[in-house]
Amino acid sequence: MLNNRFKVIALDLDGTVSQHKSKLNADNKRFLYQLMEEYQVVFVGAGTCKRIYKQLEGIPVDIIGNYGMQFSKIMNNEFTLLTDYRRKTDREKIMSNVKTLRKEFMLEEVTGELVEFHDSGVITIPLLGTEAKLADKLKYDPQRLKRRRMLSAVRKLFPDYTVFIGGSSSFDAAPRPYTKLYGINEYLKRQGMCHDDVVYIGDDYGRGGNDEDIYHSDIKFLCIDDYRNFPEVVKEFLL
Ligand SMILES: [Mg+2]
Repeated sequence: MLNNRFKVIALDLDGTVSQHKSKLNADNKRFLYQLMEEYQVVFVGAGTCKRIYKQLEGIPVDIIGNYGMQFSKIMNNEFTLLTDYRRKTDREKIMSNVKTLRKEFMLEEVTGELVEFHDSGVITIPLLGTEAKLADKLKYDPQRLKRRRMLSAVRKLFPDYTVFIGGSSSFDAAPRPYTKLYGINEYLKRQGMCHDDVVYIGDDYGRGGNDEDIYHSDIKFLCIDDYRNFPEVVKEFLL
């Protein structure tokens, strides 16, 4: 039995509790609410807290957004953004690095822009461009093999960022020191807690995935490979 050992259950959202960028199904929602009765539940995501909150349709949980650059809580029944770090981005340098990368790997076709700049300073590099069709994106690199092959080259080009394989056909880069693990560490520190107090559940624990740093830490990590198994995986935490 794992229950009673942990105070906090930290969750990835896309691929873990829901389909990518989709609302929760009824079963997963019911199990999430049951967890919330017994544990402090925090979502840890790559997107903004607001986006995650909307996707959760207002379920009142703590949210660590943008790889730890944002933190939100529900206070007096209101979504409240308590942390919102921003980092200045050298857009020219990033564009020129992306062009170097595209040349090196002979990436040609692009629809829309080469880079998406987020307000936080996080950047997304969509290899097919910002306006590529969803169907094309989904079939581009389903096993992530192309991006794993490129990963060390991308990391070398962006030493000031932590680079992840994101979405279906892109790389995500968060300014250092922000990562999901960094966000969890700050969250625990604020409450006088440590790694032993938390269990993390995520789907992106493979090489280059944005849950990978937590997976390799001493935090108890439960893997999910299909979000429909969420009830099965969390059952052991419930009395
Ligand atoms: Mg995920």
